[in-house]
Amino acid sequence: MKISGTVILKKGKEGSVKRFHPWIFSGAIQSIQGNAENGDWVKVTDASNRVLGYGHYQAGTITVRMLSFAAAIQEEKFWEQKISAAYHQRTSTGVISDDTNAYRLIHGEGDGLPGLVIDVYNGVAVMQAHSTGMHRDRSVIAIAVKAILGDAISAVYFKSLSVAKGRTESEYLLGMAVSPHVILEYGNKFYVDWADGQKTGFFLDQRENRKLMGSLSKGKTVLNTFCYTGGFSVYALQSGAKLVHSVDASEKAIDLTRQNIELNAFSSLEHHCFVSDTFDFLKESKVSYDLIVLDPPAFAKHKDAKHQAMKGYQRLNAEAISRIQSGGIIFTFSCSQVVDRQLFYDTVVSAAIQSRREIKVLQHLSQPADHPVSMFHPEGEYLKGLVLYVI
Ligand code: SAH
Repeated sequence: MKISGTVILKKGKEGSVKRFHPWIFSGAIQSIQGNAENGDWVKVTDASNRVLGYGHYQAGTITVRMLSFAAAIQEEKFWEQKISAAYHQRTSTGVISDDTNAYRLIHGEGDGLPGLVIDVYNGVAVMQAHSTGMHRDRSVIAIAVKAILGDAISAVYFKSLSVAKGRTESEYLLGMAVSPHVILEYGNKFYVDWADGQKTGFFLDQRENRKLMGSLSKGKTVLNTFCYTGGFSVYALQSGAKLVHSVDASEKAIDLTRQNIELNAFSSLEHHCFVSDTFDFLKESKVSYDLIVLDPPAFAKHKDAKHQAMKGYQRLNAEAISRIQSGGIIFTFSCSQVVDRQLFYDTVVSAAIQSRREIKVLQHLSQPADHPVSMFHPEGEYLKGLVLYVI
């Protein structure tokens, strides 16, 4: 890596970097020396020229994404050391096992690599870059992933973000593999289609919550809304649910759900799919469910959309609470980063008040160990969930 310039912070603006917060906002910058272009590596110093670390430069609100807080950077080993540390955290916290071969290897800021996501699907690493720097460094990252994981992976696929204009197309950076591809998650099988699916192809972040939900599903009538590839549905059936209904607005998602139900050899008598808007489905369905999963996409992607999003969460939860059987359980989630845990909780409370039913909160849910949050970057916590028992 070539260090193309030095970003000098204003006096008194070095506090958050010293506390390992990985973002340097444009307002904290005094001056930039050298010819830094978007995606270049830069050195960051305080107003007295003391080195605070190194990061990727990108003109914008977040001008530098910090990758190292050391005074000097060891170029040759940088990527391998970061990937090795993340891999060690996954292996030592039991994420990878005989019956689970899909996990997130790199979770951006949570692994000290802002802008980078790498998911491993049964031997295939799928990479996404959310910054120009990570996009530019993709080939050296792929080599480092292979160096650390060795025979545990056979290919590295780079999936470009369709929204990022002017970037190259998706491509295999190393090896080749066929998508879709079967993974194992707690012994359940799923097809993962990284080439055409959403994000990197599968929502690994719900693994532990799916497992918990499965453990409460025996003999129950289950509704899985926003089901995507049917993750929660497969767990429910595996645990002996009496009947499972899977709902998604996307026909493609429902096709994938159907394929995953077949892959796990469940009877089609116990499972039905519906291509439908969840709000319409909840209004029209005549079935009384014992367990409902609400896992909508991020209703608010930006702060401006927050108010609208809260209304969406309230309406969705109120509908589900008023529909569920007495003694029923609701798993309700929000993956909007701008909606924090307290705000989500308060919104569900207001839905509960509206539906006039008594409710116990059984558990607070979050994201798993392979989606870590840096203690100094609380913005990294995005997945929030509640398990409700409706009386
Ligand atoms: N629970 C899933 C992930 C959900 S992703 C899992 O465990 O893998 C969100 C899904 O919601 C997407 O598949 C998207 O197609 C679907 N969706 C978005 N808006 C919807 C709506 N109004 N009604 C039903 N499905 C919707």
